[in-house]
Amino acid sequence: MKCIFCGNKESKVVDSRYLKDSTIRRRRECLKCGKRFTTYETVENNPMVVTNVNNEREPFKVEKLKESIVYATYCTDLAVSVDDVVKNIENKLFALQKQEISTQDIVRVALDVLLEVNSMACLVYFTQHTDCDSFDGVRRFINR
Ligand SMILES: [Zn+2]
Repeated sequence: MKCIFCGNKESKVVDSRYLKDSTIRRRRECLKCGKRFTTYETVENNPMVVTNVNNEREPFKVEKLKESIVYATYCTDLAVSVDDVVKNIENKLFALQKQEISTQDIVRVALDVLLEVNSMACLVYFTQHTDCDSFDGVRRFINR
């Protein structure tokens, strides 16, 4: 990112903020002349942003996803590794080609992937990540 004052290519980011339209506003400080300027970066090179139920935004964190998959698959025999499952889910999320995804998107994709891998793990994940803990909900999910 070139400094708009002196053209120097090196700058440091002093502040980053996600904006509503999925751009990231960064305050940068030039390492040469010390002046500050603002850049607006589109999401092309940035990670996905996840919006949760409270409408808060945070960068997509694969570790968090992995944690939930490890939990869901803890007591089951998987034919594939947890890393493979996580990678698969991650790829499908990227394939949505959305810059902003919701936690529900993640849950839906994860359930799809887990269903192919292990139905028990899928059920555990389902009860952990939906507010529907009744048998009815589980049955509806399986029969969908
Ligand atoms: Zn400069």
